[in-house]
Amino acid sequence: MEKWRVTYSLLKYSSNFDRRSNYSFTSGVRYFYGRSYIPFNKNYAVQLRYLASVASTTQRNPDFSQINMDDISYFKKILGERGVVQDEEKLDDANTDWMRKYKGSSKLMLQPRTTEEVSQILKYCNSRCLAVVPQGGNTGLVGGSVPVFDEVIINVGSMNNILSFDKVSGILVCEAGCILENLISFLDNQGFIMPLDLGAKGSCQIGGNVSTNAGGLRLIRYGSLHGSVLGLEAVLANGTVLDMLASLRKDNTGYDLKHLFIGKLTLNSFLIGYCLKEQVQILNE
Ligand SMILES: Cc1cc2nc3c(=O)[nH]c(=O)nc-3n(C[C@H](O)[C@H](O)[C@H](O)COP(=O)(O)OP(=O)(O)OC[C@H]3O[C@@H](n4cnc5c(N)ncnc54)[C@H](O)[C@@H]3O)c2cc1C
Repeated sequence: MEKWRVTYSLLKYSSNFDRRSNYSFTSGVRYFYGRSYIPFNKNYAVQLRYLASVASTTQRNPDFSQINMDDISYFKKILGERGVVQDEEKLDDANTDWMRKYKGSSKLMLQPRTTEEVSQILKYCNSRCLAVVPQGGNTGLVGGSVPVFDEVIINVGSMNNILSFDKVSGILVCEAGCILENLISFLDNQGFIMPLDLGAKGSCQIGGNVSTNAGGLRLIRYGSLHGSVLGLEAVLANGTVLDMLASLRKDNTGYDLKHLFIGKLTLNSFLIGYCLKEQVQILNE
């Protein structure tokens, strides 16, 4: 999708959100982080999740549909048997957060392997009004990666390829499901250093890192991901793929939209990352 179209859609969705959101706060709650479920159809509804102190008072929004056999068949058709997880043990892990403080009751986890598959899933969920939650390595400490109720979990862990690395520019292109530690080792072997490192590196995924704008141990030296991510590809709730994978460092054209997706917990649009670029610095520089 061209840049001006992307800008237009985002502005449109953003103003829709302001107009139609109907969240309310339990008195006394001052903070929330907004995981928003936003199907862009006429039954548009927003469900915000509050901090643990009030999570128990949140009701499932009845406007959202429940999974049925037709949905499962559709997902199997596009992802194959392997990409549709209904195994109770696996779902139990995916429903429970790292700290074991939050637990959802999702009955379905989807594991797409391409952007196209992510797009098809979201398009379908949007049309059926099915709530979804993206999940990376599930190492987040605030319960953002697990369902609140029975949302469909979308995990891009199978999209874990390093697509390219250019030693001259230091630009790495990889898929959102790459485990951070694998990227660090890959770059170490090339004589480069990843600008991001954190304690959960053995499990967290770069898509999750970008989504949370993770800081980590190297932030003071190399700055935040807003500086080191050069581009990314995102899929909106309605399945639209936004290609913002430009690797040009000095890109003066239009808005720099990728920043809307880095640390997007307060962002209105639902997104799921697929590819992104990391700027890396030469070791011993
Ligand atoms: C031991 C330990 C140390 C940690 N140290 C740090 C630290 O130093 N600095 C720091 O900032 N954090 C730290 N964290 C928190 C956590 O590891 C980071 O927030 C990490 O970036 C989460 O990545 P993840 O892949 O596990 O994402 P998840 O926990 O799976 O998801 C986190 C959020 O991102 C969303 N998300 C995940 N993948 C995608 C995707 N592909 N597209 C769109 N949205 C997505 C989820 O919906 C959720 O809202 C630490 C955690 C642990 C357990």
